Amino acid sequence: MLKKKVYFKTFGCRTNIYDTQVMIEKLKDFKIVDNEKDADIIVINSCTVTNSADSTARNYISKVSKLGKRVIFAGCGAINRGKELYNDKKVFGVFGHSQKENINTLLKNDDRFYNIGDLKSVEKSIVHNFEGKNRAFIKIQEGCNFRCSYCIIPFVRGDARSQDESKILQQIEILSSNGYGEFILTGTNIGSYGKDKNTSLGKLLKNISKIKGVKRIRLGSIEPIQIDDDFIEILNEEWLERHLHIALQHTNKDMLKLMHRRNSYDKDKKLLEKLSQKGFAIGTDFIVGHPGETKERFEDGYSKLKELPLTHIHCFTYSKRDGTPSAAIKEQVKGDVAKERHRQVVDLIKKKNYNFRKSINKELVVLVEEFKNGYYTGYDQYYNKIFIKSDMNIDKEWVTMVNYEVKEDANYAIF
Ligand code: SF4
Repeated sequence: MLKKKVYFKTFGCRTNIYDTQVMIEKLKDFKIVDNEKDADIIVINSCTVTNSADSTARNYISKVSKLGKRVIFAGCGAINRGKELYNDKKVFGVFGHSQKENINTLLKNDDRFYNIGDLKSVEKSIVHNFEGKNRAFIKIQEGCNFRCSYCIIPFVRGDARSQDESKILQQIEILSSNGYGEFILTGTNIGSYGKDKNTSLGKLLKNISKIKGVKRIRLGSIEPIQIDDDFIEILNEEWLERHLHIALQHTNKDMLKLMHRRNSYDKDKKLLEKLSQKGFAIGTDFIVGHPGETKERFEDGYSKLKELPLTHIHCFTYSKRDGTPSAAIKEQVKGDVAKERHRQVVDLIKKKNYNFRKSINKELVVLVEEFKNGYYTGYDQYYNKIFIKSDMNIDKEWVTMVNYEVKEDANYAIF
């Protein structure tokens, strides 16, 4: 019998990319295709982080429904938008995060289904391969116990719970024997790893590094208050990338309070300076235009940002998420004002990044990720992009760059 064809549409973050991979591995009785047109069934792994993420998913549903496809709605949006989409018959089926490992059975259903599951489980299965990539994402935990006022994630992914260490290690062993050398640890709030299992992220990292074939470990975002002694202990290890992403979100005291954040500028500054002295490039998340961000508060935050040894930034312009405390705050910031603040912050960190790259006098260890427009590209240990010209085929290879040119936008080299 011909297998039905399934196309996955993934929205959102790295955790969703990972979740899609879990589903792909479970879908034994179907054929995966790489475009909507060829598919009988489209599985949407949705994101619901802002109101506009919801509308993107809705628009996509109407686009593919017009093609006559059977649409299944999964991911973070399932829990708060799934019921409505199901009742309005916009989608054929809905399933929640805890049901993704049952996807093979769910998709065989000829009756419509709504199976939202719970927010307590973590996956039992292990991902063995990541198609077309030479770096593997490993999900080490799920959920978050923080309640930042703008964020819906804890309500759609649940409280923090950690994957079993033995499962993570087994997964990395398999992937490294399949040729993967770089591992990126992800989750909703990875710094909370182990708190429910009497261990810690630092201890887990040490054990991962002992696996043969593991060359480099990258980490997703960590909260500043989660950097504990176990973590400090591993900072000198060779296998840890020289780049950390510490989520500050803001640097003004009143804004941090409004955002229900647990970090404070003075402590963050001490921590970042310590990491920078150890040679780390440091990235952060920063939100501009959050309700209540007056001109004075932004300017105070901006001048403090100047003082920090940052090299990378994910700067977000606040976008309303219904159902969160921030959405109910009256003093909203106008769109053009937020946009200008976004530009200022991004420009500032770009300059800092350029200065940082000029100051490095070490060779760059690069894992080449792709070949495009005449250049091989990849990231070095400081998470800076490099464009390489070469007559050799160095795609997916590790290369060490001694001579390279530092330009404003990126580093360039001939190999
Ligand atoms: S730490 Fe804050 S922003 Fe991050 S997922 Fe948890 S609640 Fe959301």
